[in-house]
Formats: sequence, structure tokens, C-alpha cells
Amino acid sequence: MAGQKSVVISGGAGFLGSHMCDMLLARGYRVVCLDNFITGKKANIAHLLKDKNFLFMKQDVSQPFRIAGKVDYVMHCASPASPVDYLEHPIETMLVGSHGTHNMLELAKRKKAVFLVTSTSEVYGDPLVHPQKESYWGNVNPIGPRSVYDEAKRYAEAMTFAYRRTFKVDTRVVRIFNTYGPRMNINDGRVVPNFIYQAIKGLPLTVYGDGKQTRSFCYVEDEAEGILKLLFSKEPGPVNIGNPHEFNMIEFARIVLELTGAKSKLVYKPLPEDDPRQRKPDITIARERLGWEPKVLLREGLVQTIAWFRENI
Ligand code: UDP
Repeated sequence: MAGQKSVVISGGAGFLGSHMCDMLLARGYRVVCLDNFITGKKANIAHLLKDKNFLFMKQDVSQPFRIAGKVDYVMHCASPASPVDYLEHPIETMLVGSHGTHNMLELAKRKKAVFLVTSTSEVYGDPLVHPQKESYWGNVNPIGPRSVYDEAKRYAEAMTFAYRRTFKVDTRVVRIFNTYGPRMNINDGRVVPNFIYQAIKGLPLTVYGDGKQTRSFCYVEDEAEGILKLLFSKEPGPVNIGNPHEFNMIEFARIVLELTGAKSKLVYKPLPEDDPRQRKPDITIARERLGWEPKVLLREGLVQTIAWFRENI
């Protein structure tokens, strides 16, 4: 199609990446999806394989690769993203954040494309400022178990800004907060799939630590829409995209029990090392400069997510 814009997206078969592919195709873009299936899944993109505007390439973007033809947007979304996954793949996580970011930036530079990298609230580490504003530099343990993810993403942000300053690549950095919804990996160890699975199976819900630690959960469609708003803006970021509605893990467990109708008990397990005590995005920049804010309430998004898990377990 003449004038059709094309997007190359790494991690496009992942949980969030596959929703981004859906949204881009629905808006008329041509999508080239790269994934090596470390944590991405064929099932997440199976419904797209017959779309003439969708091309899948099995590719580890930490390794060199070439893309033929015109590219307008490069989105680097590939990375293991749950603590269980990145602890299982520590080296791959560091490489996709470092070499992967470099390779994707080179692609954007060669093609004169807009570049976006999905960074994370983990760059704030165990934050001493609450809620977290983009101007906060964070409190990260550089050698702790989570550092493979946190430092890889911090490196990715630094490399992105280095390319912006040195080569004038038109870049965007988004900091994603906890996101949930259909297509989350049931066994990625995160609190949302764990609690939903446990509730559906009538198992006790495993609360880590005292359960007073907080997170703020954003529904995947809100998240994907916010990321696209940033991509199509002129805002370099970093911009927090997340839902500022904050819950502690005991409150969250009770909501999952209420919505599933399960009678499970809560059992307390040790808190993982360096688990952040609190997390909540300040989204003033997203509101004011992108005109974005999340729309889906936790209970509404969880109903959709629970229904999806019931069908897919
Ligand atoms: N968590 C929990 N029970 C679980 C899994 C996680 O209480 O079965 C807690 C975890 O310790 C953390 C929060 O839930 O405080 C969110 O963990 P998750 O792995 O979903 O994401 P994170 O925000 O830590 O990257």
C-alpha cells in the first residue's frame, strides 16, 4: 500500500509486544515482528500469521541481523520481564538490553526511523521517592539478583540518549510499570498470573513477605495505547506509562479471591531479595504531554484476565 508506514518490533510475540502488534495492524501499519521465543510465544501471534501486513522473523536481536526495505518506526520491546524469567535468563537479559538495544538503534539510524525502547519502573529500583517521577534517579543494587534487568534497562536508556545526542536519532523512552492482561505467561512467576492460577485451582495464594509491599497495575490495552501515543509524539521521554492506582499484595489477593469466587487461604512465603517495597507511577508528564491516562479499572481488567486464564490454563 502506497504511503503505508512500517514498524519493526522486537519482542513482538511477547505478552505486551503481541498487543502492540494487534494495535499497530488495526491502525493500518505494516509490522515486522522479531522474537526468539525465550519468553515470547507462537500462540500470542498465531492469529496474525495470515495477515498480509504482518511478517514474523525468528531472531535474537542481541545478534546482528538485517531488515530489507523502508522502516519508519523501530520498537525495542524484547526482554524477559518477570523476575522469575530474568533470573532464569540473566545473561540473555543483559545482552538483549545492551547488544539488543545497540542493534535496534543501529537499525533506526540506518533507516532514519523513529526509535522507541521499553524501559521499566525497575530503573527506580527500591524507590526512596514515592510516587516515582521521571526525574528520580533511582535506588538500584548494581550487583543484586535483579540488577541483570534493572541495569540492562538503565544501560538501554543511556545508549538511547547517546544515539540521540551523537547521531540525532529521533528516540523515545517509555518506563513501563506493572502491566497485566490476557496472554501473560501463566508460569512467569508474577503476582497476577500466580494469584489467578492459584485461585482458579483452589490452591492457597502465595503472598511474599508481609504482603504490605505495593504495586500499581495497568491493563495491557491501556499500556499499549500509552506507548503508541508516546511513539507518535515528539516527546523523547523518559515517560512513565502505568496506572497510579496502588494496592498492597494482601489487598490484591483479596480482590482476586472476590472476582474468582475462590475460597483459598493466603500463605506467606519469604520476600525475594531486593523486592521493591513500593511502586506507583507519577503520570503527570503522560497526562499533560501525551493526553494519556489509563481508563480500565483494576476490577474490570482482572475480569477480562481471569476469563482468559480460565480458557487457556
Ligand atoms: N508476589 C507475591 N506472590 C507471588 C508473586 C509475587 O506476593 O506469588 C509479590 C512480589 O514479592 C512483589 C509483587 O508481588 O512484591 C509483584 O511481583 P511481580 O513478580 O509480579 O513483579 P515485580 O513488580 O516485582 O517486578
